[in-house]
Formats: sequence, structure tokens, C-alpha cells
Amino acid sequence: MHYISTRKKSGSKTLSEAIQAGLATDGGLFVPEKMPMMDQSQLSLDMPYPEFAGQVLRQFFAGDRLETSLTQLCERAFAFPVPLKALNNNTFVLELFHGPTSSFKDFGARFLAECLNEIAEDKKTIMVATSGDTGSAVASAFYQKPHYRAVILYPEGQISEKQEHQMTCWDENIFAFAVKGNFDQCQQLVKSAFSDAAWQAAGGLSSANSINIGRLLPQITYYAYTSFHFYRQHGCEPGLIIPSGNLGNATAAYWAKAMGFPIREIVLATNANRVVPDYLETHHYHPRPSIATIANAMDVGNPSNLERLNDLFGSFEEFQKNVSALSVSDDLIRKTIAEVYQRYHYISCPHTATAFYMRDQLDEQPWVVVSTADPCKFDDLVEPIIKTKVPMAPQLQALLDKPNHIMKVKADLIEIKNLLDNCSI
Ligand SMILES: *Cc1c(COP(=O)(O)O)cnc(C)c1O
Repeated sequence: MHYISTRKKSGSKTLSEAIQAGLATDGGLFVPEKMPMMDQSQLSLDMPYPEFAGQVLRQFFAGDRLETSLTQLCERAFAFPVPLKALNNNTFVLELFHGPTSSFKDFGARFLAECLNEIAEDKKTIMVATSGDTGSAVASAFYQKPHYRAVILYPEGQISEKQEHQMTCWDENIFAFAVKGNFDQCQQLVKSAFSDAAWQAAGGLSSANSINIGRLLPQITYYAYTSFHFYRQHGCEPGLIIPSGNLGNATAAYWAKAMGFPIREIVLATNANRVVPDYLETHHYHPRPSIATIANAMDVGNPSNLERLNDLFGSFEEFQKNVSALSVSDDLIRKTIAEVYQRYHYISCPHTATAFYMRDQLDEQPWVVVSTADPCKFDDLVEPIIKTKVPMAPQLQALLDKPNHIMKVKADLIEIKNLLDNCSI
């Protein structure tokens, strides 16, 4: 299997090359040259998750140097449960937050870290800008990976104390910097590092951000697993409601459907950043600066994976046939958190609440609400709404109990490089 750019102006790559490069040289995103169909007779209900995931990913890895390690990569990356819970006879919730940092980002970050570490032969650096869950997932995934050091840039004072603690409680090969600036400046620093000869000379730089195909492929596996089990158990296909920002999670779901997994329909819930709902309504795509909301991991005004969805559907008409999306305001998110708690005694995070809100607008067919983070990550926000304590996930508590160390820097690449050079690794 080879990988080509969505912009079709650069040559095809092997999977390992595409994972290391992150972005294609023409600025496009890597996609498989042909979407493989899954022979579902290769799968069974009693397969443990990592084995199932390995089967689903096998064709994507065909012919690549990572092919023979695929089983082990899955076993190491997917070492936590992926439960689907029934709230009533047609509303289910898929909890993707039982990994070490309590968001679905653990699937992509852990799998990417395993792949990159397997490919690397000498010391490498992974760099990422984050406004929240990505930073902690990447830090946890790359911690003590022998070939890698991880550099994480986040905007000082613009993330919660808990989020900051989860990124700054590591040592050894993890370096998290509080940058004096906003998220866009952090992202700009990462971009500049990629085009900077001194950084490139200092050893291969890779990106862990969500455009990396190594983060996207593992996300197919939970949609494959869930829909396969659902269909066998209920005799019908579930619809999926996905809280979306950069559209990585959504793209993985459309790819799972394109492979033939029994998914009836996929709908997207966004927060006040309504760029996809507007695109569907007006036919015109208007990227814009992001708006801050209480579902902050979805604050995206120019979703990078839209390019992959356009590539998959080929035309606006096909896009419109396959995608529907709804924007949910902060007020409605708060109301929904309260209602879902009253009705089901189920506590949802603000991101998941956008999908719950959308569920109520839909029909009586079975729908799976995709839950992207553990509500305990947002307890400051959720507890006053439901007037109840949110139980802390043990793995998260363990991180919060570790001492942390905050390193502040100016939004300046040279200063960051100097600081790193002084920390020996
Ligand atoms: C990253 C994130 C999202 C958005 O996912 P995309 O793949 O960027 O669309 C939603 N919810 C949570 C909790 C996240 O961390």
C-alpha cells in the first residue's frame, strides 16, 4: 500500500515515509492510494481489541517495513478498554477515554509513538503545539521512548491548571514549554522549526499533530470494532455522532465506513466554531479564526482534515450526501450536560455534550454518541452544572500527584533551542 498527497502534486510514499514526513511536500495530507475493503470473515466477536485492530490495519501496512511489527505495535498501543454503554434502547455511548491521559487522543498518540520509535535508528525529536489534550497524550506516549525526545509548546496562561500539570509532570525525554503567546504562535513556532536548517541538522524532526497519518489510522480501529460488534449483537447498523474540531476523528469514521464496516450514517457535532455546518449550507468554505468555547479541544476555525474528507468524497454533492453537521452553543452544551445527567445519570464532558445535544435532534434509529474525553478532565466546569462531584480517573490522579516543573519561554525558536541544548539527552 502506498500513500499519496491530497493535492496530487508530490510522489507516493511508503507508510513509514508518510508517518515520518507528517505532511506531503506539496503541503497536502497523506491518504492511501486506494481505500482497502475489509474481508470481515477475518474478524470475530471474541478477538481481543489489539488483535482485531491488527486485522483492520493489515492492508494499510502491506509491504511496509512496519508490517511484521504490526501485531506488537497494536498490543503496546491499545492496552485499555473501549466500552460501548447502552443508555436506552436506541442511544449508546462509546467511551474512548480510558487511556492514560483520559481522552481519545491516546489512541493516535500511542500508536504513532510506537511506529516512530520502531522506525527510528538514531535520536529524533517530535514537536507539537497544543491547546489541551494533544500535549498530555503525546507526552505520555513518548515518555521513555529510547529514540525520541518530545517538545511540547503550549500557550502560557491559556490552558487549565490540570491540563498544564499533565504536560509538565514528566522528566527524561519530555520537554513542555509554556510559551508567552497564543496557540497560533505556538503552531507558528513548530512550522518555523520544520523549515529551519539548524533544527533539521540537529536530527530528524517529526510532527505529532493530527494531520499525521500515523495518528489517523489507529482511530479507524475503534469504529471498526464498535460497528462490527453492534451489528452482530443487534442485527442493525448504528449511526455515529462525532464531536469534531480538526475532523481527524470524523475522517477515521468515514474511512471505516468506506472499508465496508456496518455504519449506517455519520453526523458531526461542532461547538460555536461552525465552519463545517456553514460549508454544508452555503457550498462555500470560509476558514476563520477560532472562537474560544467551553469545548475547547474543538476550537478550530480551519479544520485540517477537511482536505481528506473532500478527497474521499470527490465532489461537494457527495460530501453533502454523506456529511451532516450541527453547531452547538456553550449555553446548549451546559444545558445538555445537566439534562443527560438528569435523564441517564450519565456525566459527559463538554465535547461529548455537543454530540448528546445532536442525538436529541435525530430519529428513533440506534445512535452511538462518541465520547472523546473523561468528564473528570473538566470537573471545574461540569461539577457546578450537575451539582455533584465527578469521580477522578485513577490514571489521571496518578499524573496529578506527580510533581511538575513549568518552563516558560518567549515565542522564540532560538531561545527554545538553547534551553533544549542545555538539557542533555
Ligand atoms: C481533539 C479533541 C476533539 C476533536 O477531535 P478532532 O479529531 O480534532 O475533530 C474532540 N474532543 C476532545 C476531548 C478532543 O481532545
